[in-house]
Amino acid sequence: MSDTLPSTQPAERILLGPGPSPVPHRVLRALGAPTLGHLDPQYLGFMDDTCAMLRTVFQTKNALTFPVSGTGMAGMECCAVNLIEPGDEVIVGINGVFGTRMKDVMERCGATVHGLETTWGETFTLEQLKAALDAHPKAKLVGIVHAETSTGAHQPLEGFADLVHARGALLLVDAVTSLGGHELKVDAWGIDAIYSGTQKCLSCPPGLSPVSFGELALARMDARKAKVQSWYLDVSMLRKYYTGGGGARVYHHTAPINMTYALREALIMVLEEGLDTRIARHAAMHQRLRAGLEPLGLRYIPTRSLHSLNCVAIPEGVDDAGGRKRLLQDYGIEIGGGLGPMAGKAWRIGLMGHGATVRNVDLVLAALREILKR
Ligand SMILES: *Cc1c(COP(=O)(O)O)cnc(C)c1O
Repeated sequence: MSDTLPSTQPAERILLGPGPSPVPHRVLRALGAPTLGHLDPQYLGFMDDTCAMLRTVFQTKNALTFPVSGTGMAGMECCAVNLIEPGDEVIVGINGVFGTRMKDVMERCGATVHGLETTWGETFTLEQLKAALDAHPKAKLVGIVHAETSTGAHQPLEGFADLVHARGALLLVDAVTSLGGHELKVDAWGIDAIYSGTQKCLSCPPGLSPVSFGELALARMDARKAKVQSWYLDVSMLRKYYTGGGGARVYHHTAPINMTYALREALIMVLEEGLDTRIARHAAMHQRLRAGLEPLGLRYIPTRSLHSLNCVAIPEGVDDAGGRKRLLQDYGIEIGGGLGPMAGKAWRIGLMGHGATVRNVDLVLAALREILKR
């Protein structure tokens, strides 16, 4: 037939933006393996492996650790709808796009959100958190972004849970851009609930959102008076499928089978490399990039930069969109532009998972050097 479209043949890009990150062939091959039924014993074994490896990568013993169907935002919504009841007071750290979104998501759950705000690019101190808890003693939950991808800021989390738990509140963390690329210790840091994504430091295509809930979060969910507003993301039903719930697996929705294969393979690759080695690689590639960017006049915006996302100010007189277009057209390299107040003023260079290599760092530096010459 002459009116059919050509087949889907995407260009080969080097993905050095805020996500998705480059996906290894092994992971793509797993994605393309034959589809099993979602209750097939072999598939359930793959799912169990995936949850077990997620526990290792999150550094947690939490039984309720599984990949939510959907991207990182589905994980954010899943945590919010299950942990918040209408009328709850919550505190959210807002220092970029994702904290702003968390506030919006929680307000849609009926929460009264007290924003803990600071300049974009900055992070929160224990003193600031303590002051917010003092100001809002009824807060039942504190939400904070570990890796604020919109600004490249890295939020330290040690000590946060102690302050939050002392007030009987729960600590919820957005680790979408840190899981598998940055130090992240769910149990040691006392995090009660956490969500991530597959297409950042895990180097898997987008489509699943790993989440983990601790004992206090489970108790909060069990004590709910109001039904979870979302049927699709209701953990009380989802857990009967993902963990077996002590009995038979119960159908809730069809798990994204092939995405589970891909995530399983991506996690095998994380553990083959070794979590600590992988985190050290992200740190080393960040240092290498930074050492090359600063002499080009590209200054880091955040005070504490992430390793996985490098957010730099575009020098005076340099065209944002034009520069990124040349990177894409001439070099096949994708980087990100600024968001919100940083639109047109910042470039965001992601070094995530499979993308965090010497080859990519040196290539993007060489390309930027050429582009900035003009
Ligand atoms: C990418 C990202 C998200 C959202 O994930 P999606 O996969 O785009 O839904 C949430 N939080 C942070 C910090 C992110 O970087």
